Amino acid sequence: MSRAGRDGQPAVTSRGRPRLVVATHSRHKLAELRDLLHLERAELLDLDDVGLAAEPVEDGATFAANAALKARFYARLSGLPTLADDSGLEVEALGGGPGVRTRRFAGEEATDADNNARLLEVLAGLPPERRQARYRCVLALARPDMAGPRGGLPVRLARGTFPGRIATHPRGANGFGYDPIFEPAGEPPGGATVGEWSPERKAAVSHRARAARRMAAILRDLGY
Ligand code: IMP
Repeated sequence: MSRAGRDGQPAVTSRGRPRLVVATHSRHKLAELRDLLHLERAELLDLDDVGLAAEPVEDGATFAANAALKARFYARLSGLPTLADDSGLEVEALGGGPGVRTRRFAGEEATDADNNARLLEVLAGLPPERRQARYRCVLALARPDMAGPRGGLPVRLARGTFPGRIATHPRGANGFGYDPIFEPAGEPPGGATVGEWSPERKAAVSHRARAARRMAAILRDLGY
């Protein structure tokens, strides 16, 4: 029960709360984003809440392109404003790779442990100053109630980065993905990895938190 927004104002539920779809099937990711965005008015829904099972092909060349294509895809299908994210790791010695291939770095079915082992192997022997890397996150907001250039849905983007370096061996069991081999900037070479950081410490400075803070400002301006 929503009515289409006018003049850039968000569509609202019968209770007056604007609804926002988060392009994920993960309740964990929904809860994380709800915490990070900290919006007063918006009601956040995941893809299961709105009954969407279809998946777009994520073939963008950049994080921004992938986040935007996911946000547009689900905004069209749901008819509701939609937030989507894309994230990954850029390693200087790999010319910014693995980038959009982060999740599949060691192969299509690679586990986190496979990806970590592969990256350590590729960087073997490099000194700390040549192991610079950063996590990146792009959040995209697509709004079906707005007309964009050439008929496409307009998208607002918010970016966040988390700089650091790749360790020489895995340490710590917290986090996920590359966290056991990612030493945040500020840690000395051989110092703590994100796998050894508390979740709270990571959440204060992560690429996702930084992108979310920027997106929260955009959303508040739009009335969410
Ligand atoms: P996505 O699901 O396509 O966004 O892929 C993101 C991939 O980047 C994940 O599978 C992880 O391997 C990696 N990644 C993104 N953010 C993080 C993080 O905060 N910690 C560790 N790995 C991350």
